[in-house]
Amino acid sequence: MKTIILKIDPNKPQKKIIKKAAEIIRKNGLAAFPTETVYGLGCSALSRTAALKVFAAKNRPPDNPLIVHLADVKDIPSIAYADQKKLELIKQLSPGPVTFLLRKRKIIPDEITAGSPKVAVRIPSHPTALALIRESGVPIAAPSANLSTKPSPTRAAHVIEDLRGKIDLILDGGRTNYGIESTIIDLTSKVPTVLRLGSFDIEELKKYFPNLKILKKTKTKVPGTQYKHYAPLTPMISVERKVLGKKVSQLSKQYKICVLCSRETGEKIKLKGIKKIILGSQKNLKEIAHNLFSCFRKLDKSGADLGIVERFEEKGAGLALMNRIQKAAQKTAQCFQRG
Ligand code: AMP
Ligand code: MG
Repeated sequence: MKTIILKIDPNKPQKKIIKKAAEIIRKNGLAAFPTETVYGLGCSALSRTAALKVFAAKNRPPDNPLIVHLADVKDIPSIAYADQKKLELIKQLSPGPVTFLLRKRKIIPDEITAGSPKVAVRIPSHPTALALIRESGVPIAAPSANLSTKPSPTRAAHVIEDLRGKIDLILDGGRTNYGIESTIIDLTSKVPTVLRLGSFDIEELKKYFPNLKILKKTKTKVPGTQYKHYAPLTPMISVERKVLGKKVSQLSKQYKICVLCSRETGEKIKLKGIKKIILGSQKNLKEIAHNLFSCFRKLDKSGADLGIVERFEEKGAGLALMNRIQKAAQKTAQCFQRG
């Protein structure tokens, strides 16, 4: 399949380009586009055929549901059940990097929700995403536009690397604003529950939901979260800042190491021949979160056989950041523990 790649002004998307992308979506094709979190791989959320194409292109396991994107809160009742109180809360928190889980209406095919009676809904704030949804006239299902198991794409180049030849169109709108996926909150449970930490500030969410529960590692199966997302192909471990230098010097005797760390830590580690990928400043965890997935992809190109990533404080933006780092490092850490 030939993939068309078009540059678009992210903030003032050209009408002609949006029209072309919308036509592809309406004809049940696949178009990747920038959102404020990461790039999404869009298809009509009303079409089973289109949904199946998304799963095939990404090589995504069929039990991992897709988030449905709308342009306006007032469109929610056409695809999901939500009372006035819930709609009011969603309105206050949208548009932005937060996704709400609601009971779905029949119009949304089971292929989109992986058989679940619930649908995840988000109203993005990105002008290109909004223009595309409006012009398409249908809700757009859009998982991250990466191959399953690869880090989510924060630049069009990442989408091109993973999906060129497999989808109809890629809109290149430059770098996304946040770099980590949306925060997902379940509004169907008795107590509103965060299913996935993400780009929306958790402290801010607590202001709207004082009894907010955050799902920690539990036996409860949240669709999709059992998969090893976000990980580079290169084995990677995460290490506390204090012992990073020592660990690097130890492990570099056996492995070709590449360190992913803050600028400040990078200045302190002065080991000969060790590659470094700078994530950003320790003082700005949002910046580090923004760069994380892009740096994971750089690690895969570095030629190293082990990545060592610095750990950060699990507070504010550091919560979602560390969640992604730990997920990416999980498998390698288990191997190291087993010896
Ligand atoms: P992605 O868009 O690739 O970041 O992945 C979407 C994620 O949203 C999935 O992996 C699930 O964790 C979550 N999600 C989407 N739809 C549902 C749903 N109907 N029920 C529960 N979780 C969902
Ligand atoms: Mg994803």
